[in-house]
Amino acid sequence: MQRIEHIYIDGAFVTPHGSEWFDLFNPATEEVIGQVRLGDAEDARHAIAAAKAAFPAFSRSTRDQRIAVLQRMQAAVAAREDELFEALVTEYGAPVSRARWMAAYSHQVIGEVAATLADYAFERQAGSARVVMKPLGVAGLISPWNNNAGFILGKLATAMAAGCTAVIKPSEMSAIQTRIVMEALHEAGLPPGVVNIVNGRGDVVGTQISAHPDVAKISFTGSSAVGRAILRGGAETLKRVTLELGGKSPTIVLDDADFATAVPLTVGAGFMNSGQACIAGTRILVPASRLAEFEEAIVGQVRATPAGDPRDPATAVGPMVSAKQWQRVQGYIRRGIEEGARLLVGGEGRPDGITRGWLVKPTVFTDVRNDMTIAREEIFGPVLSVIPYRDEAEAIVIANDTPYGLHAYVLTGDAARGARVASQIEAGRVLVNTLTHEPKAPFGGFKQSGIGRENSHYGLEAYLEPQAVLVG
Ligand code: NAD
Repeated sequence: MQRIEHIYIDGAFVTPHGSEWFDLFNPATEEVIGQVRLGDAEDARHAIAAAKAAFPAFSRSTRDQRIAVLQRMQAAVAAREDELFEALVTEYGAPVSRARWMAAYSHQVIGEVAATLADYAFERQAGSARVVMKPLGVAGLISPWNNNAGFILGKLATAMAAGCTAVIKPSEMSAIQTRIVMEALHEAGLPPGVVNIVNGRGDVVGTQISAHPDVAKISFTGSSAVGRAILRGGAETLKRVTLELGGKSPTIVLDDADFATAVPLTVGAGFMNSGQACIAGTRILVPASRLAEFEEAIVGQVRATPAGDPRDPATAVGPMVSAKQWQRVQGYIRRGIEEGARLLVGGEGRPDGITRGWLVKPTVFTDVRNDMTIAREEIFGPVLSVIPYRDEAEAIVIANDTPYGLHAYVLTGDAARGARVASQIEAGRVLVNTLTHEPKAPFGGFKQSGIGRENSHYGLEAYLEPQAVLVG
């Protein structure tokens, strides 16, 4: 049992003013594995005050000084990779291969930001004006539970690269990861007040940060509903806002695709991060002429993608993070059946032979219409919808018929055709015949999947404001 008692303000571990204790679970066993003491609005205000006090000096630090700080952070987090890996398996239920990737990402992302900073032109000429990119001020960074450490560190490194100071509100369900990150950042010897971390509830600490006049910028990853609330909360003080929200991404299987490669990619995209991925390809668009062939292939592939104990290297799909999330996913499976979609594989309940843990049967529906609830709403679990289409033009219409626009996948035997289709998709990122991540490319959503971009100079500029200086 871990008891996580401290938050991090002004370079020190402090006991929060808030006194609520929140249980932490192992989603694979449903056992309570720890407790975290949550901060409250007063703690958030202290953290914001510390970040505000640290801003003038940190905003004047040089590029080289900031690169050195980021390198120390990267080394300190890398030294904790194994601990983060353990936390990701135990506290989040990530299957071991996924957890290893996530633990490594947590420090690699800092290196990516340092490389961006090394090349970035903070000053440029625009006609007769000198344009200087200035840090915005205090940044409020709010993360979800499906990659808590990675999101915190990516956002924090970018904010710091810009010269901003930060107040972080991590997911309250990921407090073990947060503790490890907090200790690593302390070991990295950052100037006090540059980074402050307050565990707490979203509607307490999160709302305080997103409405506080001394916070200039919010970067939020999470659900669209909370994203809207944050936008409203920041409106009064005209905060700069980056929102990385949900998705209902299409996987367009073109009629020339080789199913031997396309079907594993489809299932990989759909069940990524146990289905708890904003970028999961959950609407699978299949040519009606090849539907039966595709259905047979995907059933075989799903059976080879088992859900189970995240510590078993054979497991591809781990548990849902919480009982609430498990029930939500079950509700969507019921809804799909009620709405008349045909269950191809999976269904309600736990996978066969599993009696505990928030595990879901990897599930695929077929004959889904794009207006069914399971095709419109983000389920955030391993539940996929196969939607037949007549021709390429119809596939593109269906792909774009969604309020979301985060990601899309195109699978084809002809890469040039894939690129042509990709250019017609309304999504922030389109992957053709691959699931590879490109950290140098912008990441973010069209439409209701968000506002703004992360990664590379696109992400850095979200923490900067151009100032034009003209001298007569
Ligand atoms: P969530 O929106 O419920 O919570 C995210 C964070 O916001 C948590 O730290 C939470 O405590 C906080 N929060 C809750 N209410 C708040 C409020 N009123 N004001 C301020 N903060 C508040 O999301 P979740 O359930 O933790 O994560 C799942 C969601 O995140 C999914 O919808 C998923 O698509 C999305 N997501 C998006 C991306 C992306 O990059 N686009 C990545 C991962 C997850």
